[in-house]
Amino acid sequence: MTIVYLGLGSNLGNKEYYLKSALDQIAGLPKTHLKLISPFYVTEAWGKTDQDDFLNLVCQIQTELNALELLEYCQKIEVDLDRVRHEKWGPRTIDIDILLFGNELISKPTLKVPHPFMTERAFVLVPLSDIAPHDLQIKGIPLYQFLEKIDSSTVKRKE
Ligand code: ATP
Ligand code: CA
Ligand code: CA
Repeated sequence: MTIVYLGLGSNLGNKEYYLKSALDQIAGLPKTHLKLISPFYVTEAWGKTDQDDFLNLVCQIQTELNALELLEYCQKIEVDLDRVRHEKWGPRTIDIDILLFGNELISKPTLKVPHPFMTERAFVLVPLSDIAPHDLQIKGIPLYQFLEKIDSSTVKRKE
């Protein structure tokens, strides 16, 4: 069993519905258990800022799938939940990113783990810190050190 953290986001349509549906589908994946879900956060768009706020969360799963199998399942869930790819970092009904896959370092064209931007993104680090152990390391550096460097005023816990 590998402990995996997934980052989920939505900023199009019924965001809460899309996130909850994605969590349901993740919980139903073969050889996989959904263990922990962070609170939902309302967050400002990152990278391409002229779009609606996002709703984001992070979840922890335990899985016997390998990383590429998991990526394929996550992409199937995205398509099933109306994800259409238009422009880079554009609006989307649902986005599922593999943040951490155990301690694996993966650098394939289709899959980079740890997720390359996770340590710069408050909408990832803040919910991750809600559910991850205090000593969680990302590329050998503890999560709290990254948290100290980012502006977490861009993310607000949903009521
Ligand atoms: P970002 O990756 O910066 O958050 P994005 O989520 O908007 O951007 P997508 O359009 O969802 O990007 O994904 C583009 C491609 O990224 C996917 O087809 C997938 O193959 C690849 N990818 C690489 N690393 C990962 C990862 N850790 N998790 C999910 N997809 C990844
Ligand atoms: Ca993403
Ligand atoms: Ca993605």
